[in-house]
Amino acid sequence: MQTEKIYLSLAHMGGREQEFIQQAFDTNWVVPMGPNLDAFEKDLEQFLGNGVYVAGLSAGTAALHLGLILLGVKAGDEVICQSFTFSASANPIVYQGATPVFIDSEHDTWNMSPEHLERAIKDRIAKGKKPKAIIPVHLYGMPANMEAILAIANSYEIPVLEDSAEALGSMYKGVHCGTFGELAVLSFNGNKIITTSGGGALVAKKEEWVQKARFLATQARDAAPHYQHTQIGYNYRMSNIVAGIGRGQMLVLPERVEQRRKNNQFYRKHLAEIDGIIFQIEPSSDFYSNYWLTTILIDPEKTGFTREDLRLTLDRANIEARPLWKPLHLQPVFARSPWYGEKVCETLFANGLCLPSGSSLTDDDLARVVNTVRNMQPVI
Ligand SMILES: *Cc1c(COP(=O)(O)O)cnc(C)c1O
Repeated sequence: MQTEKIYLSLAHMGGREQEFIQQAFDTNWVVPMGPNLDAFEKDLEQFLGNGVYVAGLSAGTAALHLGLILLGVKAGDEVICQSFTFSASANPIVYQGATPVFIDSEHDTWNMSPEHLERAIKDRIAKGKKPKAIIPVHLYGMPANMEAILAIANSYEIPVLEDSAEALGSMYKGVHCGTFGELAVLSFNGNKIITTSGGGALVAKKEEWVQKARFLATQARDAAPHYQHTQIGYNYRMSNIVAGIGRGQMLVLPERVEQRRKNNQFYRKHLAEIDGIIFQIEPSSDFYSNYWLTTILIDPEKTGFTREDLRLTLDRANIEARPLWKPLHLQPVFARSPWYGEKVCETLFANGLCLPSGSSLTDDDLARVVNTVRNMQPVI
């Protein structure tokens, strides 16, 4: 029997996106500026709260790049980055000609270890270079330990650029992820909790910074009747069409968070009792994850199968699951970057799997995943 494929995380439209796109067509705002973009930025500012300002951009990666430029990162500088993340967290460091310095994860949140962060800062300063910025990531929606990270960042006076690409709707101590750092980035790529097909945003505590980001994102054009430039610019602004999708998605964002959290609860209810399957869960009530993706660790000594055995079994059942992010300090392209840690994120990568987590999954889909996992037989 041919079953339908269950995907890891799919775009899930709310239904009103095309109304906003139609408005853009009706008024001919088919450009990278306009009423949808202004309104989407306002919607995000209101949702996040904490007095932040938002600039809509073409991608989360573009937002990280502009964030580093705003923080003055230049060729030869060093920037601290969580190792356990998607390559886009660190690539913009290299765009600037700077070097990423990678930090291991802590056990609780799987995000940046405050202990290794401080060790790295001290060591880099002792070696003659103070890092220019710190990029913690709220991976899979789980908030990083922001209190400890910010305390260290503040004591060494190093700004934080928060990678909140996977964590829209997540909170730490009741405050939205994406509002802790001097700057933060969001992503609306096709598989994120809300999507604009592709897109991102830079979030800033200071209004001047989003103004500067918008200026740089539109080719850094000075005020003059002709095209006058005193700085290098970029073409990173979000289109007004894409922002229309974003406005529609903002109407359903709370439902999307709720659904992903329900998926997580369902999996935990039906799988957590299996000896050797460990869930990444909120370490305490200070943490509120959007559970963008539900993630598990397999202990092969207890289950009798590895995460790769499980992934391949799911694949044969037409279910997409994915290994956790491969730590960046193990990626060939970053082999020469400094690294501070033990083997925490390396072990997570070896044993971890992301389960299908989209907000459009049906109860039957979730039951199919659960049954496939429960039917796994020991193979080792
Ligand atoms: C998706 C993602 C990005 C990049 O965002 P894009 O919009 O795809 O450029 C950056 N960091 C993390 C952790 C992500 O998951």
